[in-house]
Parts: sequence; C-alpha cells; structure tokens
Amino acid sequence: MANKRDYYEVLGVDKKATEEEIKKAYRKKAKECHPDLHPGDKQAEERFKELNEANEVLSDPDKRARYDQFGFNDPTQGGNPFGGAGFDFSGMGDIFDTFFGGMGGMGSRRTSNAPVAGNDLRYELKITFEEAADGCEKSFDFYRLENCETCHGSGAKPGSQPSTCPTCNGQGQVRTSNGFMSMVRTCSNCNGTGKIIKDKCPDCGGSGRVRKKRTATIKIPAGIAHGQTIIQNGQGEPGRNGGPNGDLYVTISVRPHKLFKRDGYNLFIDFPISFTQAALGAEVDVPTLHGSVKYRIPEGTQNDTEFRIRGQGVQILRTSGKGDLIVRVHVEIPKKLTEKQKELLRQFDDTLTGHEYEGKKNFFDKLKEAFN
Ligand SMILES: [Zn+2]
Ligand SMILES: [Zn+2]
Repeated sequence: MANKRDYYEVLGVDKKATEEEIKKAYRKKAKECHPDLHPGDKQAEERFKELNEANEVLSDPDKRARYDQFGFNDPTQGGNPFGGAGFDFSGMGDIFDTFFGGMGGMGSRRTSNAPVAGNDLRYELKITFEEAADGCEKSFDFYRLENCETCHGSGAKPGSQPSTCPTCNGQGQVRTSNGFMSMVRTCSNCNGTGKIIKDKCPDCGGSGRVRKKRTATIKIPAGIAHGQTIIQNGQGEPGRNGGPNGDLYVTISVRPHKLFKRDGYNLFIDFPISFTQAALGAEVDVPTLHGSVKYRIPEGTQNDTEFRIRGQGVQILRTSGKGDLIVRVHVEIPKKLTEKQKELLRQFDDTLTGHEYEGKKNFFDKLKEAFN
C-alpha cells in the first residue's frame, strides 16, 4: 500500500478522462500485460493486478468520485478502500470474453472448491387491499433447489465417491495453446466441477441438487405498499462448498380495492351525494376500511369538494399513526324527473334573487366587463 501508484497513472489517462477513454485505455493495457501472454512473469502479473484494481475503481462512477476526493484514504472504507491486495478477479469474465473470444473468463480461475453463495429467489405474493392496510401473516409454497439428501450433494450414488477428473486434474479448467496465445477453458469433461461421477445418485441424477417444495411464512407489516419487497434471509438456494444460502425476495402485490384508492398512507373515496344534500347539507355514512363513520356535509357543498377525515387512512408502517381518509364528493343531478318534480323546481327557481349562484353571478359580471 505504501507506494501505490495513482490509478490514473496506472491506466495512463488524464484525470478528466471519460468513461469511454478509461475503458479503451484499460483494454489496451490489459492486452499488453495479460498474464497468459507472460507465463511465469511475476512482474507482468503484478502490473495486471494493479491495472485491474485501477480499472475497478475508475470505471465505477461512485468509486471514482470517492477516489478523486479521498485518494487511497477513503474514511468510509476502513483501511483497504479499493480491494488492494485482496483484489478479486471474479466478475471480469465478460471483458475477457470480448478480448479473447470466450476463453472461459477470469471468473472461473477460482478453484472449483471455492465457496459460492446460493442463488437468491424471487416470489410475488398477492394480498388484498385490507391485508396490506392491516398487516397479516401469510404462508405460501415455493420451489427451490436443495442439496440432495440421498448423496449429500455429491451427486454420487451412496457408497460411491466422485473421482477427480483426469482431463483437468480436478482444476475444472484446461489450458490450451493456439500457437502464440494460451487460453484457459472450462473443462468439458467435468463441466468445470473438477469431478467425475461414474455411479450417479438415482435421486438427483448426479447433479447433487433436487427441486423441493417449501412453505414460507412471513409477517407482513400493516401499511405495506404494492411493490415493496420483504427479504427472507437465507431462504434462497443453498450455497456450494460451504458458501452462504441465498435470500428469498418476496415482492408484495396488492390487489386494488373496489371503493378505495391509496396514495401513501391516505385513502381516497369518491362519494356520491344528491344535489339537494349538497344544497341543504346532510349527515352521511362514509365507508372506511373498518365499518363506516358519520360525516356532516355542510350546506352549499360543491361538486368535487374534498373532505378529510383524520385517522381513517392506512396505518403508517412501523408506527401507530394512521393516514387520513379523503372523501371526494360527487354531486349527482337527477336525470329523469316527473312533471310534478319539474314544476317544483321551476317554482323554486322563481324564488331566486340571482345571488344564490355565486359562480354564475361572477361569470356574468366578468362577461359584462369584458364586452363593455
Ligand atoms: Zn475436468
Ligand atoms: Zn443425489
């Protein structure tokens, strides 16, 4: 760490280099000092490591920004900010595949016995609107690959053992040479496992894994929203060679409600009232998620007016507070009236002085001003 070279210097680029320039510089240098071109050359190997470390940082906008700010002493990263000696070659497969036409990738350079984390699994769980609002406990079945119990994951028939692959000597990889360049390929005899199974386990067919149905039970907190994910640690597929299990990601899908809409923790409802209720005012029963509440609509209520009923919304996640219920009033005008009803309305109209309809009055006042 003491005399580490500046990452920009390692790549031979300017501090203002674009992502594209960094990529280009990296590719060029990586070709020059790739260890496969310099077998046994310790210096080339060191340069290659240095180069990859520099690229790992400078090709990642976040890491690059931190490096620009803190150099090798990023306070948020402990003593060894950017990997340093512990640099990991994994994840570089694609780059080298594009260089060398699929040489198997540096990622597979790791030995076939290294611990590998199990795959994460995803599950979409549908719940009702009320279950999301109130919280619930749900059980569901899902499938995952597990180590075969019959052969304990070895893939070999009980009583037999997998043998070391003779083609790759258990390395999982073979090195071939096409004259000027040597390449590493995944061993085709053992598919990279380094082992050959002569007597296959009858239960898993030699794969060491079987598909099992499992039941998960999860607690869904009140107030969860559509699209949120609950992570069940360690419930994914088992790791290999002692690696950790993957996780199970349960994404919540909330079914829509027939009456209510939800925005954050507030609930919305469109509530129809008659035009006489709007004009005279009325006490109405407004539905909530739990029964109904009485609400007094004031006289002279206009169409689309929103009333807020506090605390009748959805419980706010991990608190005891609740959102509000917003009631949007829809004033309904009758479409069919009898002759008698029409006559009553005409009589009503005759009593008007012109000041009862504020909006109408303002409109005609403005109209007059505009054209005089
Ligand atoms: Zn092999
Ligand atoms: Zn088995």
